[in-house]
Order: sequence, then structure tokens, then C-alpha cells
Amino acid sequence: MPLLVMKFGGTSVADLDRIANAAEKVKREVERGYDVIVIVSAMSGKTNELVGWVEGTSPLYDAREYDAVVASGENVTAGLMALRLQEMGVSARSWQGWQVPIHTTSAHGSARFMSIPRDNIDAKFAEGFRVAVVAGFQGISAEGRITTLGRGGSDTTAVAFAAAFGAERCDIYTDVDGVYTTDPRISSKARKLDRIAFEEMLELASLGAKVLQTRSVELAMRYNVRLRVLSSFEDTDETSGTLVCGEDEIMESKVVSGVAYSRDEAKITLFTIEDRPGVAQAIFGPLSEAGVNVDMIVQNISEKDYDDDHPGAVTDMTFSCPINQVARAQKALEEAMAAGKIKYDDLIIDTDVAKVSVVGIGMRSQVGVAARSFAALAAEGINIKVISTSEIKISVLIDRKYMELAVQALHDAFELEKSA
Ligand code: ADP
Ligand code: ASP
Ligand code: MG
Repeated sequence: MPLLVMKFGGTSVADLDRIANAAEKVKREVERGYDVIVIVSAMSGKTNELVGWVEGTSPLYDAREYDAVVASGENVTAGLMALRLQEMGVSARSWQGWQVPIHTTSAHGSARFMSIPRDNIDAKFAEGFRVAVVAGFQGISAEGRITTLGRGGSDTTAVAFAAAFGAERCDIYTDVDGVYTTDPRISSKARKLDRIAFEEMLELASLGAKVLQTRSVELAMRYNVRLRVLSSFEDTDETSGTLVCGEDEIMESKVVSGVAYSRDEAKITLFTIEDRPGVAQAIFGPLSEAGVNVDMIVQNISEKDYDDDHPGAVTDMTFSCPINQVARAQKALEEAMAAGKIKYDDLIIDTDVAKVSVVGIGMRSQVGVAARSFAALAAEGINIKVISTSEIKISVLIDRKYMELAVQALHDAFELEKSA
């Protein structure tokens, strides 16, 4: 039988009524002749509550126990979804990660898939079961411990199952009816896109658009999974939502397809560091060992270039990282300073910044996107603190209080309200 993967996020399984609503959608696909693998998230707010309980018990928690606790939210919804389907006359069975078994790495809190053997679930389908309800976001390590995939990880579970089972499509049901030109909660001018290329979605997700977990887009691209984002709050059919697909399936690529933002950024500057070979390594080595995800980096031009005549040249180094990693970053840098590995006059931390990015594959062949973006920000009096670019994106770090304004300004500058 043809197979579909249907994933329901937190708000789509927020209470028993929402679970019943999602189950109706599953039942409809079963009646159309599909076997279905349903991937469920925890009820909305549940994962945050569990994380809070862990942090409230042990601030520097053992990540294995963090995973044991936070994975439990998905177990509840998987069982409830299977029960609701059974009540509707659909033969369904729930699966926790270890029962499948979903093998992952041992990186607790951000584990990655190793393999998903099909045997157990295939055997149940062969018995006549029509639906397998799998708890998203979790797996099991080689040591036999429960693991989780990082926040938003159920999207990745869904895509991985679609790839492993050769599903016809992977439908991600959520609280918006597709992927928009920017977060519809930030801008009323945001427009739903009918299609978006894998690479653009990958950039948008990694730059903060949490509608899909970045890793899920990576996997979909690698295994060519037909990935669709649509609303669980509306009646939907084959044409609903946004299809995330290969570039070749997109008629015309726009210069800019979307604007993403990331609110929880911090900027750290090391003033007056030596300007000589090996200094960047001495700074970013300890940060990497401390598990700090450094994002944007700028090093000032020194007044005097380093060479034999100017051994004492100095410069400044600035980088950004997630706000919740600032304490770890500061500790790592202060320890490196105390150990004599690096030298700086001052360490300044700015936790009031946000990152705003424009993304589009059309940028590859079009010049002037950066200039247009900077002009739009300047017109609003928004000062840019750090800039970084790639082939298909331009990101700026700005004061957090201007984040929404910057998103609107960039959305307007590229006339994204005319997108579809
Ligand atoms: P779920 O619980 O279903 O996984 P998420 O909250 O993780 O849902 O993701 C959906 C949310 O992503 C939307 O409510 C929306 O606010 C946000 N979002 C951010 N950027 C975008 C975008 N470009 N298009 C659509 N939604 C976006
Ligand atoms: N429940 C997890 C989270 O909130 C995973 C998910 O919903 O995708 O991050
Ligand atoms: Mg999500």
C-alpha cells in the first residue's frame, strides 16, 4: 500500500479535542487507501515545562537524565493518538523511539539519526494495522539510553521516517497554513509561498524560521523527500500548504524569497587582542570545546599589519552566539586569559541584539541585494552591528528593539507582499 507520513506539532495535539481533530485527518488518508506513519510532538508547552523541571532540579544537569525527562512528552501523545484512532475504528499502534528502534548518536540533547530499521513497524502493517503512531523527537543510543534530537526535532523524525519507509509524501501539520515570506506573527504583510526550494528553506530555518527544524530540511534535501507544510486547523487537500522541493520544480526564482529573524542572540567583543598568527585559534578553540555555537565573526583591520616590523600589532575581535551560551563563552574566555593563552584589555557582552536575514536563491545571479537591504535599514535609522553573507543570504546583527521594524523594512524593500 502507498504510505504517507503525517506529523502533528505541539499546538496540533494541544488537548484531547486537537488530538481528535488530527486523528480525523489521519483517518481520512487511511480511507483513501494509505498506510500512515503518524509522528507526534508533545502537547504544546509540555516540553518547556519538562525542561523547566529539569533545570529547576539540577542547573548543570546530566544530559542523559534531561533526555529521559523531556522525551516523555511525546510518549503521552503517541499513546493518546493511537487510542483516539482505535476509538474511530482505525487499527493503530503507538511506538516509542526505543521500540522501533530509532538508533541515534549518543549526543544527548542534540542526537542525530544513525538508522531506523523497518522490520518491527513493517511487521505490524503486515498484520493489518493501518497506522503506526511514533513519538517524535527521540531515539535510543548505542548505550541503550533515551536520546532527544534538539528542539523542534519531531520535524526531523518525520522526514527520517519518510525517507526510511519510502513515503509518498511527508506532511508537516502545524498552526500556520504553510511557509510564509516571513513569520506571519511578526508581519501582517507576510505571504504564504506555494513552493520553496530546499536550499532556501534550509537557510530560513537555520537563520531562525522555526516552522521546520533545520536538520529536517537537510534530510529532505538529501533523500529527496516530498515535504509539505500545512495547517491542522483548516480543511486541507492535496494542493494545500507549501511544498518544499527541488529548485527545478520552481517556475521563477525571486531574488529574495523570505526574511528570517533570530531574537536570542548575543554579541561578544574582545578589545585589544594581539594581531598575530594563532590568535583566532586561541580564542575560538576554547569556545568550541565549551560547546559554544559561534555564528558571525568579525576581526577589525589593525592599524599596522602584522609582520616582522610590527610584532606588537593589536586588533579587536567580535562574534555572536546564542544568548543562553553567553555564560559558558565568558567562562571559557576568562579561563583562557587566566591560563595565559589569550590576552585582551576588555571583554564586552551585548545581550540586546537580534539577527535579521534575507534569503533567496536569486541572489546568486543578481547584484545589489546587500545595498538594497542596507538602504532599507538605514531609512529606518537602524544601525548595523555585524554583517555576514553567503551565496544566498545576507544577515545583519542589530539592536533587538528594532528587530520587528527591520523585518518589516526588508519585507517591504523586496516587495515580498507580492509573493505567492
Ligand atoms: P509546531 O509546534 O507545529 O512544530 P512551531 O511553533 O515549531 O510549530 O512552528 C510553527 C511556527 O513557526 C509558526 O507559528 C510561526 O510563528 C513560525 N514561523 C517562523 N517563521 C515562519 C515562516 N517563514 N513561515 C511560517 N511560519 C513561521
Ligand atoms: N516537543 C519538542 C519541542 O518542543 C519537539 C517538537 O515538538 O518538535 O521541541
Ligand atoms: Mg516545531
